[in-house]
Amino acid sequence: MNYPISEIVRLIKADNADLFQYTISELLTDSRSLTFPEETLFFALVTSRNDGHRYIDDLYRKGVRNFVISKDIENVEKMPEANFLRVHDTLEALQNLVAAHRKRFNIPVIGVTGSNGKTIVKEWLYQLLHEDYNMVRSPRSYNSQIGVPLSVWQINDATELAVIEAGISQPGEMINLEDIIRPTVGVITNIGNAHQEGFSSVEEKCIEKLVLFKNADSIIYNGDSPVIFDAVEKLCMGTREIAWSHRDKNSPLYIIKIIKNEASTTVKYSYLQYESEFTIPFVEDASVENAIHCLAVMLYLGKTSSEIAARMLLLEPVAMRLEVKEGRNNCLLINDTYNSDINSLEIALDFQMRRSGAAGMKRTLILSDLLQTGMMPSTLYRKVSQLISHKGIDRLIGIGPEISSCERFFGMETEFYVSTDAFLQSGGAERFSNELVLIKGSRDFHFELISEALELKQHETILEVNLDAMVHNFHFYRQKLKPETKMICMVKAFGYGAGSYELAKTLQDRGCDYLAVAVADEGAELRKAGITMPIMVMNPEMNSFRTLFSYSLEPEVYSFKLLNALIKEAELLGITHYPVHIKIDSGMHRLGFTEEDMLHLTEILKGQPSVIARSVFSHFAGSDEARFDGFSQQQIAVFKECAEMVQKATPQPVLRHILNTAGISRFTDEQMDAVRLGIGLYGISPLGEEKGLRNVSALKTTILQIKELDSDQTVGYGRRGTLARRSRIAALPIGYADGLDRHLGNRKGYVIIHGKHAPYVGNICMDVCMVDVTDIDCKEGDKVEIFGDNLPVTEVARWLDTIPYEILTSVSSRVKRIYFRE
Ligand SMILES: *Cc1c(COP(=O)(O)O)cnc(C)c1O
Repeated sequence: MNYPISEIVRLIKADNADLFQYTISELLTDSRSLTFPEETLFFALVTSRNDGHRYIDDLYRKGVRNFVISKDIENVEKMPEANFLRVHDTLEALQNLVAAHRKRFNIPVIGVTGSNGKTIVKEWLYQLLHEDYNMVRSPRSYNSQIGVPLSVWQINDATELAVIEAGISQPGEMINLEDIIRPTVGVITNIGNAHQEGFSSVEEKCIEKLVLFKNADSIIYNGDSPVIFDAVEKLCMGTREIAWSHRDKNSPLYIIKIIKNEASTTVKYSYLQYESEFTIPFVEDASVENAIHCLAVMLYLGKTSSEIAARMLLLEPVAMRLEVKEGRNNCLLINDTYNSDINSLEIALDFQMRRSGAAGMKRTLILSDLLQTGMMPSTLYRKVSQLISHKGIDRLIGIGPEISSCERFFGMETEFYVSTDAFLQSGGAERFSNELVLIKGSRDFHFELISEALELKQHETILEVNLDAMVHNFHFYRQKLKPETKMICMVKAFGYGAGSYELAKTLQDRGCDYLAVAVADEGAELRKAGITMPIMVMNPEMNSFRTLFSYSLEPEVYSFKLLNALIKEAELLGITHYPVHIKIDSGMHRLGFTEEDMLHLTEILKGQPSVIARSVFSHFAGSDEARFDGFSQQQIAVFKECAEMVQKATPQPVLRHILNTAGISRFTDEQMDAVRLGIGLYGISPLGEEKGLRNVSALKTTILQIKELDSDQTVGYGRRGTLARRSRIAALPIGYADGLDRHLGNRKGYVIIHGKHAPYVGNICMDVCMVDVTDIDCKEGDKVEIFGDNLPVTEVARWLDTIPYEILTSVSSRVKRIYFRE
């Protein structure tokens, strides 16, 4: 609602003669919550801990022009455009203003008070009734002397029903709140012993609470509570009483029976002699009591028993506060997945802003369509955009048709999806890193699925892939080469185990020239996922030609049989000039055409239009070892001769390439037209001593269980894990079925926990293994590194007398890959 400042001056009885004209729509008591400075009226509250007058300078700089004060202000001359509304007590002024605001509306207002359950009753009433009414409710548990006025201020001309929560901590407070809320119907949830401080007895507290309803036309309460019953009797306020009772058949609302099922509760009741029932998906007594309060309100509002039953069934738990959880890849998640309207958004954003320990983290908001507020989407989302940029959001992920259609209003980094499913399927949930993520959506959007996907799962084994490190490594090799030399990146074998799509997508964006996969299907998957750059297939199977052609995948050709079959198939399909890559066997003796084959090969190439040599290449047998340098040079010589022949048989220029990772570092001068980068991309130098690469993949898990064992006990199958002393043994959820080599068992290798070595004890099992943590201060749920930044893959490979390639590609597909950027 908009109020001219002059009107406010009158309502709060400030004595201001000269005023600059402004229109106020927002009330502010906490300077950190500032969003719309021009429209804000700041109340400089004075409490025992703080003094709002301190923040006036700063707020003025931020554009606030209207202040309610109770003290003299310094630097007034530096704030020439400000209005200072001088009052005796700023809190009282706030309350008076809102009390006056409230009196303009003749709508039902439900006041909720009591010791426990008020926030849940309020939120449930909102869940149960918001379909029927344009509703206002207290944000979170804004129920104090300050919170209540801020809640009631939200009521505007469009509001049809308000639910306002009131809490007190001292005698005498409720009368102020009554004046502001003016409930037409009241709910007193219960009276406990909590917060007894200011009250001499439970009775006194109860009577004080009931003051809230002195002008209400009805009051809803539990008639079986003697304290409340007596207090209502004593006050005898002339208010209609809707006491519900499980004992007294003559109560207006008689609870006949409460039937607890495994995960739900059915309540049979009779209301004005008419019997009915409803079921809620909760079993605790407190939830049943809260639901009965809601039932009474719904009956009071004239809802039918079938409407009530249908909606009760859908009640959802209320998150009492914003939960902060640890997410994957160093993210922190703030969960607010049950509601979404602009007021609760603002509160959640404030919470996110103030979250300490998150300095320097990127601030991301995942937001669903907001509940209809009667505003046009364009107006609403323009407002949202202003709000979130004000609250320092760096990245917005908007989910829902409405927010997506308002994309143009948002200035920050954005992504939009029509539905939660679309977001999850896009793999979007895997692209978070080092972010403070606020997840805020109305319940229909089921954002709990998103928070689940982002949460750091205990008991989970994951392969973390650092895409930034991969890009770094790409450039590390790139800068060794001439700018015109093409880069072919090897993402075969599922990207050396790291997952081909994410890598391919990143490389495509970074200007890599070619990708190489092992088989046609791998290439087809990349195409389907949207990879458009050229893709080479290293081992095309005879029956995969159609896949090759239809997805524009370029085969490597290493034999006459393959070449002839390919030509035949291309002819059949009327394909001409299909690019292929000719593989020369220059000494590796694996696959490829030899020097002797060249004449015949060139004849075939010349005699047909179907395929054309796009490149010619060969592979080293020992480019990483100096002792083979002579042999490598010989391979280069053989290759060059063969390549020349292929070029002579081909009208277009044919790319020549022989260098793999080790070759790039050791035979840089032989880069020719292209190089094929493999293991180096993944941060592993085949030369051992090379500095400057960054580790890309880390295999991680968490401690499942810890056991204390005496030295005479054994661990695992075959009783192989013997102990030399009393030990602590941790079980980890990873075994040989995840690709953890069984030969690492029995102290052949170790894992890293809190920076320390924990050796494998006993045989590694299929899904679990055990490590010795006797000397490590750790607990269940703690993180474990199998290999990664702190335990290089090369080290693990050395223990097993193998090469890092095998370790990387052995991580089984059931291990979830998680990608992140820094
Ligand atoms: C795998 C492979 C490479 C990459 O080798 P790295 O040692 O990983 O760099 C290069 N060329 C061919 C033909 C390959 O099969």
